[in-house]
Amino acid sequence: MDQKQNIRRVSQETLSEFLTRHGEKPFRAKQLMQWIWQKNAGSFEAMSNLPAGMRKHLSQAFYFYRPEILQVKQSSDGTRKFLFRFESGDTAEAVLIPSRERLTACISVQTGCAMGCAFCATAAIPRCRNLFPDEMIDQVVEIRRYAEENLQATLSNIVYMGMGEPLNNYDNVVQSLRILTREEGGGISYKRITLSTVGVPGMIEKLAQDNLKVNLAISLHAANNEKRSQIIPANRKYPVNKLREAITEYYNKTGSRITIEYILFKGVNDSLQDASELASFCRHFPVKVNIIEFNPVKNSRLEPSEPHQVGQFVEFLREKINIIVNVRKSRGRDIEAACGQLAHKQSRK
Ligand code: SF4
Repeated sequence: MDQKQNIRRVSQETLSEFLTRHGEKPFRAKQLMQWIWQKNAGSFEAMSNLPAGMRKHLSQAFYFYRPEILQVKQSSDGTRKFLFRFESGDTAEAVLIPSRERLTACISVQTGCAMGCAFCATAAIPRCRNLFPDEMIDQVVEIRRYAEENLQATLSNIVYMGMGEPLNNYDNVVQSLRILTREEGGGISYKRITLSTVGVPGMIEKLAQDNLKVNLAISLHAANNEKRSQIIPANRKYPVNKLREAITEYYNKTGSRITIEYILFKGVNDSLQDASELASFCRHFPVKVNIIEFNPVKNSRLEPSEPHQVGQFVEFLREKINIIVNVRKSRGRDIEAACGQLAHKQSRK
């Protein structure tokens, strides 16, 4: 017999074929999916409504594996950072962010990132591989379990905003989204899921064509090419005009309002001229702009803007241009769980 496979990494089609080969009725495939993804079973014995013979065949061909949580660190503001170790031994971090209205899991899609953004600790990680769909889903499953057991609260939102660029791991991200949103999967509405990207135009268009109705957040941070390329080197390959065209197409296809993320860096992208360029960029589709506090990271020459500069920038967009602007306070900074700080370092408390 072939080597056993991790059942959470096998496609639904393969599992269905396996069951048909063993003479099972088609509805059994749905039951099996429910056990794997909805009830998060950890063994075949637990699958009480499946015939014993079917469970035996499954256990001869497949096994279960769940990632290990190596560390949970808690911030003074209640944010938790999780360090996961997967079957391969690779690690990635994810974050649980409680707020008054929601409980959000921020998950990783890669073990590092090749995009090289100047403000981000993840960019400095030398080794980077794509996470598999089950590895992304397991971050949600384990964080949800943690929240229920420790906070007596239910996870409400998911953001693909941790380590890695989701659109560089497109197929696996899409597969994880389909399972998380399916009724016999995670049962989570697309409305509660946000995908954050620095912008890979071709993949944004594909996302629209594939009719995945996630909330799209663009890490823009500058609306002119020269400045943006300094902050996000990938902008040299995917310049602002291409990004704007792709977002326009995404909006035309999905009708979803776009979130623009903008970190203000002192003396780099925080002038009124920068705000005006941002406003021009935003004219092409309905947006809300999130101004994000910069969390200094090691070896970055960037610094956070002065509070009065932040105030002017925000006032210009709100009062003169009439754009919806939220100013986001940093969460989990003291445990390096905030935006741009994830670098899977295990440390003593
Ligand atoms: S900000 Fe996102 S895309 Fe940029 S290096 Fe960090 S993880 Fe990668």
